Amino acid sequence: MTIQAQIDNLENLAALDVELKELRDAVNQERQGLDAKRSTLASLEERLARSLKNSGDMDKMRGDLMGEVRQMSIQVERSREKLSRCRTEREANAAQREIEELRKLYRDREIEVEKLDGFLEQARTDMAQITNERDAIVLDLSAVESETVGRLAQGEAVVSEKEAVRKGLVANVPPALYRRYELIRGRRGTAITSTTDGTCSACHMRLPPMLFQELTRENKFEQCPSCNRILYYRPGVSASSGQSDTP
Ligand SMILES: [Zn+2]
Repeated sequence: MTIQAQIDNLENLAALDVELKELRDAVNQERQGLDAKRSTLASLEERLARSLKNSGDMDKMRGDLMGEVRQMSIQVERSREKLSRCRTEREANAAQREIEELRKLYRDREIEVEKLDGFLEQARTDMAQITNERDAIVLDLSAVESETVGRLAQGEAVVSEKEAVRKGLVANVPPALYRRYELIRGRRGTAITSTTDGTCSACHMRLPPMLFQELTRENKFEQCPSCNRILYYRPGVSASSGQSDTP
């Protein structure tokens, strides 16, 4: 294979790699956007389920407390009756203490119920807010999800198509040159550069004159001394094209 054919191969590969990177970035960005919405939805659903369970537990606790409160008021009634039937002061004092004791327990339960009512109110407010957020995301997803999934599949298909084309190009690049290409591309983003006027077209550093002359004399690959990219000579369109790059 001539050097020129290899240059063409590498340049085609480089152009394809730029294209592939853009395609993959676009696909990844879109997928991340979709994933973020989905995981937000999942965490909202989870919070909602937890709040719902908490409210259910608190409701049950409240029901139990109310049952106890009813039970205690019946007991207070009974103790009052007992008090009215007391014959001695000692009995009366004991019944009175019992009533006070029961009243205290009754008040404690009432305070607990009030606290629970506060928590339940807060939980209802939270759930309403979470439900609103959830509904907004569901609406958003329902509007864009299937379209986005379709676009992602399309993007991925284009990427694998281009990857197949890339394989074909790589098959025509000598293995050692390809390894160098990949190594430099991994470090620099792009791996191939040319020179027309003695400066590297990628990093814009002036090449040593000896190196530049060698490149113009014989068609070959070199390496840019400053950016290490694979370097070749590309003849200018015209020697007097007005390039005024002062040395
Ligand atoms: Zn360079």
